[in-house]
Amino acid sequence: MKEFAYQRAEDVSGAVALLGADPDARFLGGGTNLVDLMKSGVERPGRLVDVRQLPLGAIESTPEGGLRIGATVTNSDLAAHPEVRRRYPLLTQAVLAGASGQLRNMATVGGNLLQRTRCGYFADVTKPCNKREPGTGCPALEGEHHNHAILGASEHCVATHPSDMGVALTALDAVVTYETADGPGELPLADFYLPVGDTPHRETALPPGALITGVTVPPAPVAARSRYRKVRERASYAFAIGSVAAAFDVSDGVVREVRLAFGAVASRPWRARAAERALTGVPAEAENFAAAADAELAAARPLRDNAYKVTLMRNLVVAVLTELAEEAAR
Ligand SMILES: Cc1cc2nc3c(=O)[nH]c(=O)nc-3n(C[C@H](O)[C@H](O)[C@H](O)COP(=O)(O)OP(=O)(O)OC[C@H]3O[C@@H](n4cnc5c(N)ncnc54)[C@H](O)[C@@H]3O)c2cc1C
Ligand code: SF4
Repeated sequence: MKEFAYQRAEDVSGAVALLGADPDARFLGGGTNLVDLMKSGVERPGRLVDVRQLPLGAIESTPEGGLRIGATVTNSDLAAHPEVRRRYPLLTQAVLAGASGQLRNMATVGGNLLQRTRCGYFADVTKPCNKREPGTGCPALEGEHHNHAILGASEHCVATHPSDMGVALTALDAVVTYETADGPGELPLADFYLPVGDTPHRETALPPGALITGVTVPPAPVAARSRYRKVRERASYAFAIGSVAAAFDVSDGVVREVRLAFGAVASRPWRARAAERALTGVPAEAENFAAAADAELAAARPLRDNAYKVTLMRNLVVAVLTELAEEAAR
C-alpha cells in the first residue's frame, strides 16, 4: 500500500481547500470502500482528508416537508431515523439491505453515493479496465459478467453501480448538494451519475474537488407506501444482482402515481421512466405491471451470461407492485 498523509478537516471550506491544494488528495468518509481500494492499489492517494468530523452529521426537516440528510450521516443512523422510516420506508429498507451492521456504522451517505463498482476486473490491477485505466479495454465484455449491466452500458464498460441507497434516493428525486472553492452547487440524482459512453472513468457530474455536503429529499407523500426489494446470491452481506425501489399510490384500483428505480442493472441507479409512464392511470393489475416492466426492459442489451437479469427484473417489478397494490386494497 502506498504511503499517505492523513488530515482531519475542521470545517467545510477547510476541507475543500485541503483537497484543492493537493491534486493527489481524496476525501475520506467511513473508508469502507476507499481504503479497500487503496489496499489493492486501485486508488493511490497521497493524502486523505477525513471529513467525518465536519458538521454534516444531521438529518433535518426542510420547510417544504422533505428531509435534509448530511453527507457524514452514517448508513446506520440514516436507516434508523424515525422520520426516514416514517416518510420514506423504501430508503430505510434500501440502506438496511446493504453491507453489514459494522459497515453501515462506518459508511457515510457521501461515500455510499461515490462507492466504486464491484466489477472484478476493476478491482484487479493486473487486468486491463477502461474505468481504471482509460483505453486499456474491457475484459468483462467477453469474460466474467454475470452481474454486469443490461441497461445503459457501452462497449467501453458494462459495470454496474453497487449502491442500494442510491436506488431509493433516485426514486425519491433526491438532490445532492456540494461545496467547491467557487461556492456551493447541487445536482439532482438523475444528473449526478454520467452516462458511460466512451468515458467510463468519469462517473459523476461533480466538479473536481467537490465535497458532498448532503442530500435533500423532497416531500413525497407517495413514498408512504413504498418498498425496496433486493435480490442477491446469498441472504446477507452481498451486493444486489437486481433490485427495485418502488412507491405507489393506488385509489379505486387505479395507479395514480408511481416511482420506480432499478439497481444492479446499469452504471447508475436506473430510474424506470418508461415503466412509470406505462403504469400511470391504468388498473393496478399484474398484467399491467408486467407490461410496464417490459416497456422499461425493451432497452435491455444483455451480455452472454446475464440475460437472466431481464427475467429477474420483470418478476421483481410484478412482485413488488403486486404487494403494494394488495396493501393499498386492504
Ligand atoms: C463487504 C462489503 C459489502 C458491501 N455491501 C454493500 C451493499 O450490499 N450495498 C451497498 O450499497 N453498499 C455495500 N457496500 C459498500 C458500502 O456501502 C460502501 O463502502 C460505503 O457506503 C462507502 O461509504 P464510506 O463513507 O465508507 O466511503 P469511503 O470509502 O470513505 O469513500 C468512498 C468514496 O467517496 C469519497 N467521499 C467520501 N465522502 C465524501 C464526501 N463527503 N464528498 C466527496 N467525496 C466523498 C471518497 O473520496 C471515496 O472516493 C459494501 C461494502 C463492503 C466492504
Ligand atoms: S466493465 Fe467497466 S469496470 Fe469492468 S472491466 Fe470493463 S471497463 Fe472495467
